[in-house]
Amino acid sequence: MRAWRAVEVTRLPGKGGPVVVFDSVTKQRMAVGPATGTARLYACGITPYDATHLGHAFTYVSIDLLHRVWLDAGLEVGYAQNITDVDDPLLERAAATGVDWRELATAQIDLFRSDMEALRVLPPGSYRGVVESMGEVTALITELIRRGAVYQVAGEHPDWYFSVESDPAFLAGRDLAVDLPVFAERGGDPDRPGKRHKLDPLVWRAERPGEPSWDSPVNATGSATSEGRGRPGWHVECAAIALKALGADFDVQAGGSDLAFPHHPMCAAQAEQVTGQPFAKAYLHTGMVGLDGEKMSKSKGNLIFVHKLIAAGSDPMAIRLLLLDHHYRSDWEYSADALAAAAQRLERWRNAVVNAGSTAAVHGSPTAVQRAAQLVEDIRTALADDLDAPTALAAVDEWAEAANGDPKAAALAGRAVDALLGVHLG
Ligand code: ZN
Repeated sequence: MRAWRAVEVTRLPGKGGPVVVFDSVTKQRMAVGPATGTARLYACGITPYDATHLGHAFTYVSIDLLHRVWLDAGLEVGYAQNITDVDDPLLERAAATGVDWRELATAQIDLFRSDMEALRVLPPGSYRGVVESMGEVTALITELIRRGAVYQVAGEHPDWYFSVESDPAFLAGRDLAVDLPVFAERGGDPDRPGKRHKLDPLVWRAERPGEPSWDSPVNATGSATSEGRGRPGWHVECAAIALKALGADFDVQAGGSDLAFPHHPMCAAQAEQVTGQPFAKAYLHTGMVGLDGEKMSKSKGNLIFVHKLIAAGSDPMAIRLLLLDHHYRSDWEYSADALAAAAQRLERWRNAVVNAGSTAAVHGSPTAVQRAAQLVEDIRTALADDLDAPTALAAVDEWAEAANGDPKAAALAGRAVDALLGVHLG
């Protein structure tokens, strides 16, 4: 799948150091990424039927900070993202609106691409839809069958499930009283008759009338067959796409905090069953964006869309600044006032950077250039500390407030804001 166009990331003087993030699994802060070479990052992508609301944008802009910090540290970044381009909600929306599910997905992926471009989010090097990845997904399922980690339920719909009991580490320390309701709320089916364990996730959904389906590997011989046609479950898709793009034990698995359970642990359990290695070294989860006291979600219908804000006249860089004004792990509420404040901040920064040289400042004065160089380091320090964008924004505010119009200093500050925060001021 084609990703979106990349913006250029200019190199800054010096280079950034290691970045520490909060790992949601161990609940510890930890340095992520290698000292040299390629950092490997996977972000769970959209289901293309309602893109791109501010919750999506917050997730991908937050992850983009990690991408940019790694680049600034001199690393290559192997970044992979999937698109869940066949899934129940997509098929339901297509049926409800009388649109072919493929056309709906294509249109929404296009919209997502243009929103990501507008927000200057760096694209993944590997952007893969589930439909085009069916070979590797079914290959992973075949391997899980061979290892006895999945089983088929009896009955009218002989679907296949991953046995969580095949991975003792998965169940260790889990509190079912907490996990089962979350599992049910987020697409799981704890009470499906014939399952061995309530938490077992769907791996292969047998073909239903009117639903798209693919040849299946899930038969006794493990070879592709038209018998047992169907489509895969969500977790095994991401596991297969991530392993194909990045290999095992990659640096960071990222997504919204609503993926912290069950999606990410289920991906990890299925991948680890086959590779015998950790799926990812760290898990990064972004907060939820709310509106009027409720989480912004498709099911509640209270979505603010990026393309609609842009169509109504918002500068995409103001939207990006609005998002960056919240730490990636915080849950927050959207308001039009906050967007207006972000637009004003953008204006102040632009005045300090773009209008430099219009005053009688001594051009290239050592003090002004030193202050800009200090700003570069302040942004680096803030982002290295668990991607603390709000602190970085405050440092730019302080710089802009005292900027004296020196063009050389302004150019350096503008490049730092662009490269590290992804906010283009020119
Ligand atoms: Zn995923």
